Amino acid sequence: MAYEPWRIGDVTIHRVVERTTRIPLAFLPTATTSALAPHRDWLRPWALTDDDELLLAIQALCLAVGDQRILIDPCIGPRQLPDEYAWVAGDSGLLGELTAAGFGRDDVDVVLCTHLHFDHVGWNTLWENDSWVPTFRKARYVIGRAEYEHWRATPEPEQAESNVFNLADAVEPLFAAGQVDLVEPGHRVSEALQLVATPGHSPGHLSVRITSGGETALVTGDCAHHPVQLAEPQWYSLADFDREQACDTRRRLVAEYADSGVLIIGTHFRPPGAGHLVTDGDAVRFRPLGA
Ligand SMILES: [Zn+2]
Repeated sequence: MAYEPWRIGDVTIHRVVERTTRIPLAFLPTATTSALAPHRDWLRPWALTDDDELLLAIQALCLAVGDQRILIDPCIGPRQLPDEYAWVAGDSGLLGELTAAGFGRDDVDVVLCTHLHFDHVGWNTLWENDSWVPTFRKARYVIGRAEYEHWRATPEPEQAESNVFNLADAVEPLFAAGQVDLVEPGHRVSEALQLVATPGHSPGHLSVRITSGGETALVTGDCAHHPVQLAEPQWYSLADFDREQACDTRRRLVAEYADSGVLIIGTHFRPPGAGHLVTDGDAVRFRPLGA
């Protein structure tokens, strides 16, 4: 499903949703129902159910920057996944929706993976003529060097424990095709797009800063999995690789972006999907767009 795009200066940001999902609050192990009390009003109904379950989206962010087409985090795709994820393993039809939005197989110039968890690399490749091939035939695939090198050096069972299931079929074939650029934090994908180091959720996690026409947005990736983590940055998630570092990164982002006017776009946030960090008394809270 596609939504009204956001605009940051000359950059248009579409989102194409592959799945929406609800997960237990225990995904944030230090969150309690009583600590959630001050947040229910601003989280419901878009990010929290009446039963305090967390609502999330798995979606691709699709950026048009002049003639350039940039796809951030191509979701899950038609993959073999462990049993616990069997319910999202089938073909969601996302590629058809991306094509309809102007981000088809020959349209995309750059695919950006904020990190290599299974739900951020899935449509990188397709099974075609008995092998995995890059889905986006003309694209450069931009991946953080630290992220790739960490997982490449990690034995497969340990990759799987950290939700990295698809290095062999969704990442390595891109190298075989010569379509990967391994980059460092600070790398500019275009004049308007720069990668920012936000480690902790994964070892080399990157967020994407978009600046154009005097406006700025930050695409979080998973350094904030759920919007409540922007109000409670110490609430790590079970998917965080280094919990302490993940919390430090979120605290740093909240301090840096509070009252800045920067639009914070959450990769897993359900619609409205973006908002601003604002000081409220002695706390900083997230004000979703339209609130
Ligand atoms: Zn992740």
